[in-house]
Amino acid sequence: MQFSRRVFCGRLTPDDVGREVFLAGWVDAFRDHGGLLFVHLRDRSGLVQIVFSPEVAAADVCERAGGLRAEYCVVVEGKVAKRLAGTENPHIETGLIEVMVTGLSVLAPSDALPFAISEKAMVAGAPSAGAGGVAEDLRLQYRYLDIRRPSVRENLVARHRVFQCVREFLDGRGFVEVETPMLTMSTPEGARDYLVPSRVHPEKFYALPQSPQLFKQLLMIGGMERYFQLARCFRDEDLRPNRQPEFTQLDVEASFIDEEFLYELIEELTVRMFDVGGITLPRPFPRMTHAEALATTGSDRPDLRFDLRLVDVTPVFSQTRYSIFRQVLQRGGRIMGLNVKGQSGRLSKNVLQNEYAKDIAPSFGAKGMTWMRVQDGRFESNIVQFFARRELDALRRAFDAADGDVLIMIADPSPAVVTSALGQLRLHLAARLGLIHPRRFCPVWITEFPLFEPTEDGGVTSSHHPFTAPDRVDFDPANVDDLLALRSRAYDLVVNGEELGGGSIRINDRGVQGRIFAALGLTEEETRERFGFFLRALDFGAPPHGGLALGMDRTVSMILQTPSIREVIAFPKNRSAACPLTGAPAGVRREQLAELGLLNLGGPHAPPGTPGTKDRLDRLSWVSRIGIAAGERPAMEAILAQAEELASVATRNAGDAPPIRTVVPVANRTRPGTEQKRSALAQTGQLLGSAPVVKGQYYQVANILE
Ligand code: ASP
Repeated sequence: MQFSRRVFCGRLTPDDVGREVFLAGWVDAFRDHGGLLFVHLRDRSGLVQIVFSPEVAAADVCERAGGLRAEYCVVVEGKVAKRLAGTENPHIETGLIEVMVTGLSVLAPSDALPFAISEKAMVAGAPSAGAGGVAEDLRLQYRYLDIRRPSVRENLVARHRVFQCVREFLDGRGFVEVETPMLTMSTPEGARDYLVPSRVHPEKFYALPQSPQLFKQLLMIGGMERYFQLARCFRDEDLRPNRQPEFTQLDVEASFIDEEFLYELIEELTVRMFDVGGITLPRPFPRMTHAEALATTGSDRPDLRFDLRLVDVTPVFSQTRYSIFRQVLQRGGRIMGLNVKGQSGRLSKNVLQNEYAKDIAPSFGAKGMTWMRVQDGRFESNIVQFFARRELDALRRAFDAADGDVLIMIADPSPAVVTSALGQLRLHLAARLGLIHPRRFCPVWITEFPLFEPTEDGGVTSSHHPFTAPDRVDFDPANVDDLLALRSRAYDLVVNGEELGGGSIRINDRGVQGRIFAALGLTEEETRERFGFFLRALDFGAPPHGGLALGMDRTVSMILQTPSIREVIAFPKNRSAACPLTGAPAGVRREQLAELGLLNLGGPHAPPGTPGTKDRLDRLSWVSRIGIAAGERPAMEAILAQAEELASVATRNAGDAPPIRTVVPVANRTRPGTEQKRSALAQTGQLLGSAPVVKGQYYQVANILE
């Protein structure tokens, strides 16, 4: 086969007319015109129409062509010709030409397809097939066929382009790509770890990295100064629509820098990445403090593509007679609202009362919702009569309300409930009223996050991760109020209401890092056990450093505007975190578990009867192969206690004789050898060479041999 002569289907142009070509690819679609067969041949570059005509091709070629079916893998030879006027196909790039085939070889036939792969119609004006509407799990089960679809493949190619852009840009700025381990210790990012049992170190586990956080910091301590990695990260979290258990982050870290360095760097990089998708981002990216974001949008991931801003109208009602508001204020609550400008025509009384106040606002956690429409200079609502003129005037000023506006208010003793419910209403209204321009992109940096969040047990937990620098270091790790007042030197990059990534300036002082661990409630021993290696590294002249990570699946998905991140991942897990193609996660053989030492791990969750199982009744039931029903357990416990009592009496009566644990006479169960002979394998150590643990000339062997 002369693959070296191959030319690409999608690259042929009218300039090639008359040229002899050798093409390889798949049968995308075909049309049989009785004697004349038209085929769309597809390779990675695109499509070209090839024609089998008895006037051009030998009879045997035409005959074999008659057997072609969708997705047969073939090579053909032929001559490029101009299409007859009126038969051009504007659906495909090569639609002005076709290839008159003279030779054909089928490299591999294909089974009937589980879904259509062809996305281009063969005839001008005809609808193209495409796999729209195919169940996603079916697509993922046959992902290799799905990837043959040009639209899916193009997503992967675009992802590659974005990654190339990242590499080129960061290399140009002096960043070095370094790989960090996949089999490692837990790296806290707030999720559960995926654990990997070690066979050679029984009962020990590696964790897959939630992020390369500690390693990138160690690289800074190692003097690398500027690092990046397109790193695979693993987080065992509850299922959410746009989450994958493994995902790719662009991980960046630099030394001797401050926040401004990172803002500039990441803005330039983000602008370039979006440019790959033809999207121009406005620069500089605006910045908002965390408090400001919550107060104006009700979210720490504000979508700034539309105006709607929250307004605090608590002071307007400080003297109110309206009992619901008065009670809320007496309990230290807050009243906030939104002015949905000029939308009263689309938000009728009925919609506001029966949909928003009754259903939608409560579904966002609000106990109720107050609304007012402004008509002919007056407020219209079912409760307007409860308010004083002075209050309504103040409300008009606070909301800058005019005719046609709709005011929406939420009151609650908990300010967090107010902002969160209004934040969600804000998004709901914007989507419903079509306030979001589909091609608008609004990046924003969110800064000054609280360093800690309160936990239910009265302690604190890190808002980001425990290596984030606080805004001041004179805090008392035992004083929760003091800790909750700390801000962090962290920042998130948010675009259109989605967090693309975030990071922080890090702690490079061992003392401060130690106090943060103490604030998190870790004992010295726990700190040493989990982070001792890292604290030790901070002892050796750690430079000031900071960085961030961007979720690349999300970023590419946003650039390409795909409906889910799964569209930009070659082999994603489905919504249930499973892989329909390979069947992962799957059960494993018992022997594998045994080999990994997982059958005798001990602890309360070990299989019943395995050593270390706490519940002696379970153990007894397992060993003696008798089932003990729940109702029988008390009686069995009593029998067991009595037996133990008897045994202890017997032991006491036995005087100095050692206690025995069996009633069967002790006997030597090893077979006497006939002749003393040491195996040569034993002599060289080969016999036990694959024992899991070897120390000098000693081998750890399974219990049964001991
Ligand atoms: N390791 C952090 C994360 O994965 C990012 C960072 O702080 O650089 O979210």
